[in-house]
Amino acid sequence: MPLMSKEEYLTSLRQLGHRVFIQGRRVESIPDNPISGPGAMAMAETYYQAEHAPDLFTARSHLTGETINRFAHIQQNPEDIIKKVIMLREMGRRTACCFQRCAGMDAVNSVYAITYDIDAQYDTKYHERFKDFLKYIQNRDIVPAACMTDSKGDRSLPPSGQADKDQYLHMVEEVKGGVIVRGAKLHITGGVNSHELLVMPTRALRAEDQDYAIAFAVPAETKGVTFVYGRQPSDTRRLENRRPDVGNLYFGGCEALVVFDDVFVPEDRIFMKGEYPFAGRLVELFAANHRTSYGGCKVGVGDVLIGATAAIAEVQGTDQASHVKDKLAEMIHLNETLHGTALASAARGRRTPSGSCAVDQLLANVCKLNITRFPFEISRLAQDIAGGLLVTLPSIEDQEHPEIGGYVKKYMTGKAGVSSEQRMRLLRLIENITLGTGAVSYLTESIHGAGSPQAQKIMITRLADVAGAKSCALSLCGLQTLV
Ligand code: SF4
Ligand code: FE
Repeated sequence: MPLMSKEEYLTSLRQLGHRVFIQGRRVESIPDNPISGPGAMAMAETYYQAEHAPDLFTARSHLTGETINRFAHIQQNPEDIIKKVIMLREMGRRTACCFQRCAGMDAVNSVYAITYDIDAQYDTKYHERFKDFLKYIQNRDIVPAACMTDSKGDRSLPPSGQADKDQYLHMVEEVKGGVIVRGAKLHITGGVNSHELLVMPTRALRAEDQDYAIAFAVPAETKGVTFVYGRQPSDTRRLENRRPDVGNLYFGGCEALVVFDDVFVPEDRIFMKGEYPFAGRLVELFAANHRTSYGGCKVGVGDVLIGATAAIAEVQGTDQASHVKDKLAEMIHLNETLHGTALASAARGRRTPSGSCAVDQLLANVCKLNITRFPFEISRLAQDIAGGLLVTLPSIEDQEHPEIGGYVKKYMTGKAGVSSEQRMRLLRLIENITLGTGAVSYLTESIHGAGSPQAQKIMITRLADVAGAKSCALSLCGLQTLV
């Protein structure tokens, strides 16, 4: 059965040999570095769950018939997408961070569908090639990172109009057996924890941008590929080695800048080469699939935040106050609304010509637009209930200090029987999710990940049937037409 255990995954990551820098230093082992370790552990949890909760975390490959990790599955029907959303919520509940593997899953699903469409129009052979790549991923249970966002330079200019042509990743030259590419991809979720990089264009392209219409996959350790790890607020707390003060003791998300400095891509790993009319369609499909995923993962993190907030209210003796109950109800309402739109976009999924199933794009965009807002309101309510101590609480060293520890413990105690350290752990978790490393994923990524809010507004406007709604309104008030 092609499933790696959590330990096998971590070993594969240690042996990968990819070129990663964190704060100016080359890192040899991602799982063993204190800054990057929690990110690797979050990805590793997707392996652990496949072993321990196979009903939800595994699926049957439509290519090989084997049991595979659901994160490597091509969605066959709406039920598959519903299971995905539920699985992502479960992962969010277990990790309270971005566990990274879904971006690759959504990219694989999107490239699968679009390569079929490209072949139908251009008589190319990308789809079969991609299926081979997919079998390779599924049979080894390895992770492909979705690499989409380019650095983009001056955004008022198209790729070919940039002073520095590398601001969008592009083909530099065709060589025997493949092509050379150059450029960079930004904000690559889980890039350093992935075995392969699945690269796609970042925007719709025109004929003059043909060299930028390239999709391919290369191993993470390929010559010319360099990862530069992104900083996160409070990330150096992980170096303090004082576990109770960290907030989230086990897990964290991670993003990286990935540079492709004249990287050779062999022909059998190229899935689009110059077919520029399909670049925008690939971006839209990936965005829609990934926007629905956010209605799983962010909702799971929301569950943790709601739980921590309810617990801290109890510790502080405010849990029976009517306004606190009301605020918790509001947090739950917002969180479940996010999940509801994700499930709706999954339930209304449609078959693509390739045979795979894609989400309902309108509802996926509605889901994601809500996600750009509701986690902020949920966080505001959590901070309201938690109180100012969230940001004024002394450190664990102070609590344990022989001279002053007694003061801190005495004045940081709430409900009888609950220690000041227990209170501190809950407050640090709320702090982590709403202000610390967890907020990277729960808040800022909720705005910009899978596309910024304006991208969703554009799609909603394009996809909504306003003409149909207008004709309903006109007929009800006795009008045939307006003009
Ligand atoms: Fe997965 Fe959510 Fe992270 Fe995207 S933001 S990779 S959907 S956990
Ligand atoms: Fe994301």
